Amino acid sequence: MGNDIEEIKAKLNIVDVLGEYIKLDKAGANWRALCPFHNEKSPSFMVSEEKQFWHCFGCQKSGDIFGFVMEMEGLEFREALKVLAEKAGVKLQNYSPQKEEEKNRALEILELAVKFYEVQLWKGEGKEKILNYLRERGLKDETIKEFRLGYAPKGWRNILEFLIKRGYKIEEINKTGLLVQKSGPSPVASTRHPLSKGEEEINPNYKLQITNYYDRFRDRIIFPIADFSGRVLGYSARVAPGGDESQAKYVNTPETESYHKSRVLYGLDKAKAEIKKQGSVLLVEGNMDVIASHQVGIKNVVAVSGTALTEDQINIIKRYTKNIQMFFDMDSAGENATKKSVKLCLANGLAVKIVSLLQGKDAADMAKENPKELEKNVVEALPAMEYFFQKTFKKFDKNNLEGKKKITEELLETVAILENEVEKNYWIKKIGEDLDISEKALTDELKKISLKDKSKLISNTLDNLKTQEPIAKKEMLLQELMGLMLVYPTIWKEASKRIREENFNFKNELFDLMLENGEKTNFDFASFINEIGDKIEINQKAQNIFSQKKYRLDLNNNVEEINLPDPMDEFENYFREIKKESKKEELDRISNDLKIAEKSGDKEAKIFLCQESGRITKELHELEEKK
Ligand SMILES: [Zn+2]
Repeated sequence: MGNDIEEIKAKLNIVDVLGEYIKLDKAGANWRALCPFHNEKSPSFMVSEEKQFWHCFGCQKSGDIFGFVMEMEGLEFREALKVLAEKAGVKLQNYSPQKEEEKNRALEILELAVKFYEVQLWKGEGKEKILNYLRERGLKDETIKEFRLGYAPKGWRNILEFLIKRGYKIEEINKTGLLVQKSGPSPVASTRHPLSKGEEEINPNYKLQITNYYDRFRDRIIFPIADFSGRVLGYSARVAPGGDESQAKYVNTPETESYHKSRVLYGLDKAKAEIKKQGSVLLVEGNMDVIASHQVGIKNVVAVSGTALTEDQINIIKRYTKNIQMFFDMDSAGENATKKSVKLCLANGLAVKIVSLLQGKDAADMAKENPKELEKNVVEALPAMEYFFQKTFKKFDKNNLEGKKKITEELLETVAILENEVEKNYWIKKIGEDLDISEKALTDELKKISLKDKSKLISNTLDNLKTQEPIAKKEMLLQELMGLMLVYPTIWKEASKRIREENFNFKNELFDLMLENGEKTNFDFASFINEIGDKIEINQKAQNIFSQKKYRLDLNNNVEEINLPDPMDEFENYFREIKKESKKEELDRISNDLKIAEKSGDKEAKIFLCQESGRITKELHELEEKK
């Protein structure tokens, strides 16, 4: 794929590609524009024709043509690759016509099925009962059409026969999740689901096979679930009113080649533009909430389909916005689930606001009964911490010890998750004041709780938190160092040598690649970028770090190149600071071990650790004096 990327880049000029989306003006050697990714009045978006990349000094985004198209169109890298390959007239090497054909057939089937279900709703069996039900729930016909709701009629082989008559093979249909395969080929079972009357028309070869499959969705309202671009990937199907209530209320498409529930956000295709425009997304509970909110003009709204919010979904959301508003379900089961989602968002750096609803209401109810009130609640959403704060103080009595303990316990649990130290401090102070407890006591308590609580979070997030907090400063210094290396080949060369002599223990993929590929690419930024071409996230990060070190805006908002008088001097400074941070980390580790040794009464270990600690402290002092 690396070759594909190079070929495409060689054939396309970044100025032409971006010029199709935004108006570029020449500014010295570079081009400038108003940034399409954030609101601005004077241009801080810069395009370098020479380096074939772009950077925004306002929102700090940057990348190459692939990154731009991804960001602009909300595409995955693969999809952006396809778009640009076509534009460049490059045939992708990994392009597998057969696999592609299979995928297209699956998408065709999924799309055709939606049409079938729609016809059943508007003209077929669903015309009376189902359509009336939806209208009673407050949905307008145009909304039902916009979201392409449908009806899967009663019976075992409606969609199956419909699709087979259109020339699709049973295996193909089965792969889309529309069917259920009976366990084991049992001819007896077929008598339970007698062949329907259309059966004789079907190719007889299928007769035996067909009895082993039946429709997954029967007598259900169909909600098609689409990807960001509106392609149908699967369905959520609600039991029809008056239907078999012993069945699950919702049945969703199982995991298939194209449908992964942990990555799906219902309504995203219709919400994405509005999410970008408003700078926030509203997360509601169910499909009906999305549709009803949409109908009353709240359009930046999505729902998760049959799962708790996942990290994959958060990552998708982050492509569009860093701000999320959530509805908070008041019953206690819902409360716990929401709290977990809120924490996952906070831990992933999203700003979360909570929208409160009246007891027992969901967004769909409110949209129907009182859309103005719903809108008001969304506007008045409280930052998550503020919300928890108010709620917890209402729940417990702050005037007795037991109440104080409960309040601190509940609140510190969430404070522990916050990424921002200033914010953390603010809340500790506030809790302390309101409960008349010292900040010191709260901070001590926070340490205990944060350990306990973090272990409860999903392991992935746990790892993030664990590695992020202590190395935050070191990571920052490393970014500066990498910037210097990418801009100045001599420093890159020198740094590679010096860093190998130390034991810094960075967990940074870009940095590893820089050390690995420096020599090979002659410590040249452009060659390096080519070398790591298909690692797109790292590629973009490299370009970002590079441009922050290389360019700045002058007072007149012109892009100017930064010329450091003595980059080597700057390198030495960063290098020393990083060394100091590493020593401090080491000391932390030792003091931890020391506590353990003390507890277990291991004298030998204690002596050794004290010596180590003394040695490192001395080294640290020496480094500090060098300043
Ligand atoms: Zn920008």
